[in-house]
Amino acid sequence: MSTLEISDDAMWRERSVAISSGLRDIMNSGTGQVTRSIIDEQVKLFKSLPLQAADRVYDIHNAAIEAVVSGKRSSELTKEIMRTGDVTEARARTIARTEVGRASTALTQARSTAIGSPGYIWRTAEDSDVRHSHKQMEGKYVDWSKPPTLDGMTGHAGQFPNCRCYPEVVIPES
Ligand SMILES: [Zn+2]
Repeated sequence: MSTLEISDDAMWRERSVAISSGLRDIMNSGTGQVTRSIIDEQVKLFKSLPLQAADRVYDIHNAAIEAVVSGKRSSELTKEIMRTGDVTEARARTIARTEVGRASTALTQARSTAIGSPGYIWRTAEDSDVRHSHKQMEGKYVDWSKPPTLDGMTGHAGQFPNCRCYPEVVIPES
């Protein structure tokens, strides 16, 4: 088994400049459609989103995808959320970070499954801020088709509120 390292939010930002043009191509291809449908599915899973209007949730999801694809920082998304809604800056920051993480992982999932990846190894930020339920996932294999339910929410690494975990993609041996 070989693995392909996929970035968490911070690493993503560092690498995003180099790979953003490639990602833009992906979003314009079939993979982009897959990414959007994965995120649409997640909207249904995440009933606990800190926002009420469904159309607004979709707007933010789409903005998060755009942010990830174009290499924007989650702080720019924070500003957009504050501009369009009645939320505090702290709340907007949490939403932006969560949505960017969710979009990053969804994009990773779309890209990985496109090349035949069955799943990934769950990686955490490995510091004292990692919540207990996520710490227990560190190093575990997760099938893309079976996102775990942790603390009552279902999702992949990086897709929980304020989650900094990321998937280390398992790719099939050629
Ligand atoms: Zn986490």
